[in-house]
Amino acid sequence: MHAMPSSLDLIFRQAIIPSQDQPVDIGISAGRISAISPRIVADAPEIVLDGRAVLPGFVDSHVHLDKACLLGRCGHSHGGLADAIAAVAAMKRDFTVDDVYERGARVIEKAIAKGTTWMRTHVEVDPRAGLRSLKAIKALKAAYAWGLELSICVFPQEGLTNDPGTEELLVAALRDGADLLGGCPYTDSDPLAQIDRLFTLAGRFDVDLDFHLDFDLDPSWMHLDEICRQAERRGYQGRVAIGHVTKLSMVEPASLARIGQRLAEAGVAVTVLPATDLYLMGREASHAVPRGLAPAHRLVEQGVVCSVASNNILNPFTPFGDGSLLRMANFYANVAQIGPDGFQRCLDLVTTLPARLMNLDDYGIAIGNPADLIVLDAPTGRDALAEIAEPIMGFRGGRQSFARPAAVLFGPARPSRHTL
Ligand SMILES: [Zn+2]
Repeated sequence: MHAMPSSLDLIFRQAIIPSQDQPVDIGISAGRISAISPRIVADAPEIVLDGRAVLPGFVDSHVHLDKACLLGRCGHSHGGLADAIAAVAAMKRDFTVDDVYERGARVIEKAIAKGTTWMRTHVEVDPRAGLRSLKAIKALKAAYAWGLELSICVFPQEGLTNDPGTEELLVAALRDGADLLGGCPYTDSDPLAQIDRLFTLAGRFDVDLDFHLDFDLDPSWMHLDEICRQAERRGYQGRVAIGHVTKLSMVEPASLARIGQRLAEAGVAVTVLPATDLYLMGREASHAVPRGLAPAHRLVEQGVVCSVASNNILNPFTPFGDGSLLRMANFYANVAQIGPDGFQRCLDLVTTLPARLMNLDDYGIAIGNPADLIVLDAPTGRDALAEIAEPIMGFRGGRQSFARPAAVLFGPARPSRHTL
């Protein structure tokens, strides 16, 4: 297919895109992809990619911006999950709008420069945080729309039925800019009642749901069954995600197959958060420590929509993080012992699958979609995953959003060498 000359604003030459083995040219006009062809003949500014991989950007389906970058101010012991929740709960009363904005901006800027184009952020709303964090996140959503699309998920981190005033605040948040509702039944004194209330609220506001769920290593009971039951009863198939679900790392294959089938039937998606799950799980073991990582790649084989996401960055839940989803997918592959045959699926876990989880309807490198794309310094996405190749540039709506030039080596033959 040849685009009409002069109708294009920009052409990417010799790009390797997910659906093609051979390099293609990608034509952009008015912020959208308007041509994909082995050779576009047109007079427009061009960027020659020399056979580098182009992806539609990474989709981070689970990030806590409001409590990111807290390491400097924590006096805690870096213990388990309960310690992390308590440490942040103690700091949360002092979060100001400016403070949350500044820490969130740091993460968003890292994420944009690592190739993320969509992000769902979980925001704590309760009597300690009030609506201050939400206010900051709404401002971030507007301020960084040039670089990534932020979806705001408000949730009760410290319980709903046991925390008076929280439900009223969640309702206020849903009336005032929150895009969806999250949950955390394991911190509630009545987990099943929390699940029921949140489904009711979500139905009232017609928003999707995203729970923190089954976040321990005891497979003898799960809230997952109740989530699937409610999703079907309420007609919410395809609109519910559950995050962590580390219990699934402790069930044998036959049980996992049954659970996978149940999740697929109920249209409940699963998000694995490798950095946090590996950091917090299995701490009771003195040796032979269980990994605590839900096997997303196996669930995907059964038709479950799964994603791998960042979760926490530089805080008591996860004192690591650079915002890179490619690094997270590589990390997942390594820990789950996935070889080259599975690299494409691991890439799917941070691109097309979370796009489905978030119900994005115009994601992907296809004619008519927004020109949101990133260029990786690798010949294919699978190579990029193996090497954690850096994204060297990114575009959103056809406008360049970042550049990260490839490294330059200065060998001994070079006459004048400058080092910092
Ligand atoms: Zn989370």
